[in-house]
Amino acid sequence: MPHISQTLDQLTADIAAAAQSCGRPANAVTLLAVSKRQPVSAMRDAHAAGQRHFGENYVQEAIDKREHLADLNMVWHFIGPIQSNKTRDIANAFDWVHSVDRDKIAERLSAQRDPALPALNVCVQVNLSDEDSKSGVALADAAQLCALVARLPNLALRGLMAIPAALDSEAEQRACFAPLRQEFDRLRETLPTLDTLSIGMSGDYGAAIAEGSTMVRIGTALFGARPS
Ligand SMILES: *Cc1c(COP(=O)(O)O)cnc(C)c1O
Repeated sequence: MPHISQTLDQLTADIAAAAQSCGRPANAVTLLAVSKRQPVSAMRDAHAAGQRHFGENYVQEAIDKREHLADLNMVWHFIGPIQSNKTRDIANAFDWVHSVDRDKIAERLSAQRDPALPALNVCVQVNLSDEDSKSGVALADAAQLCALVARLPNLALRGLMAIPAALDSEAEQRACFAPLRQEFDRLRETLPTLDTLSIGMSGDYGAAIAEGSTMVRIGTALFGARPS
């Protein structure tokens, strides 16, 4: 394995090139390093190499890691499924939540966020694949949930997020992302704080950037396979 700083440099260059190749600025896409199940040493290495945004899926794992990494300036993103009994911890241990997919969760996060903290940045998760097992609101219901998030006092509506089913070709991946991008552009006309399209993982970030992603969530392609 090459050192993480080399992989990070390569990935950052790749993301910038993908943005430029579709006429977007080199810095249009933020890299969110998905560090679930990775050791804090790997996160420390990534931070030393310049990485600031980190994504976690499990609340307790993230809280433990924050304690070990308290000396570092990191932005913490929660990207996993949200159980309603975990909202208090999620509301206060993270800067961003990408996986808000129902009214009740949005309301609890706002009610439980410490009002002394800046507003919690929220992306509404949309289900693009219509699989029962995947979380996310239907695309047709995203506007209503976004409007609720925008009204809640301790939340800041920032974007839309999706995790589509794995598809092999870039053409299929783009076709899957395209309706989300259209809805994002439409919603921005009335919800001006929307500035984040959180799509793209290790296997589809090229397609996601071509479809307007502003934040790619990458784990394996940065840290290697996750320890089981
Ligand atoms: C694990 C995970 C990722 C990263 O997946 P990779 O394929 O390892 O890049 C991105 N987003 C979410 C929501 C995840 O759970």
